[in-house]
Amino acid sequence: MVVAIVLGLLGLILGPWLGILVDRAVDRERLVADHRCPECGSSLGRSSLVPIRHWFLRCGVDPAHRRTRYVFVDVATVAAFALAGVRFGWNWQLGPYLALFAALVVMSVIDFETHLLLNVLTYPSLFVGIFLVLALSGPTGTEDRIWPALIGAAVYGGVLGVAFLAYPPGLGLGDVKLAPTLGLFVGWLSADELVAVRLVLYAMIVAFLLGGLTGVGINIATKRSMRAEIPMGPFLALGAAVIIAVSSPSATDLLTR
Ligand SMILES: [Zn+2]
Repeated sequence: MVVAIVLGLLGLILGPWLGILVDRAVDRERLVADHRCPECGSSLGRSSLVPIRHWFLRCGVDPAHRRTRYVFVDVATVAAFALAGVRFGWNWQLGPYLALFAALVVMSVIDFETHLLLNVLTYPSLFVGIFLVLALSGPTGTEDRIWPALIGAAVYGGVLGVAFLAYPPGLGLGDVKLAPTLGLFVGWLSADELVAVRLVLYAMIVAFLLGGLTGVGINIATKRSMRAEIPMGPFLALGAAVIIAVSSPSATDLLTR
């Protein structure tokens, strides 16, 4: 419980900085440490980095401009960090999964707004992830999790790659580039290759169920018969987060019996 509260607070402090990453990625600009109004691009100044307070800053050009992006980034970061705290406790695994969740929040919000998963984020996430798996497994005595992690990455990347080739409109190439990172971290939860593959498949199923239901919901709400253009990235991230959350040792037994 304490770990969840501490990490939730950490998420609240980190949230504004992740918001800046989203800003700059959406606008394709170099990093500068202040927030901009998502609607007109005017600067909100350095005080926008103060947690919570920055929700209440008003755009100098038009106070009616909405700043939902920052509130959403903060809420998602706090929730993801608290979740990681509950799942891992004060354990060496906490660090890598916090890094994953921070990257997923940034990538999901960018994908949601622009329908793009940027190479500048997907590739480094995978490389850093593989580095962490290789670097941390030895000192922590979990070498038996290296193969499950790598196989998880190959399976998730492979399945989405095939799906993309079979039906290009269904997925973006960015989704295919994100998938190995998700498979890596989901597979890393287990020391057993088969369990890892199962967990990856569950993550995939949850992602496509949530994405599909949301698509159907949007279609009904907008009364369009065509498939709504929804970005899959946030749902892939959510599916992996759900499986990471429920895969506590006892739940893993349940999931894989
Ligand atoms: Zn504005």
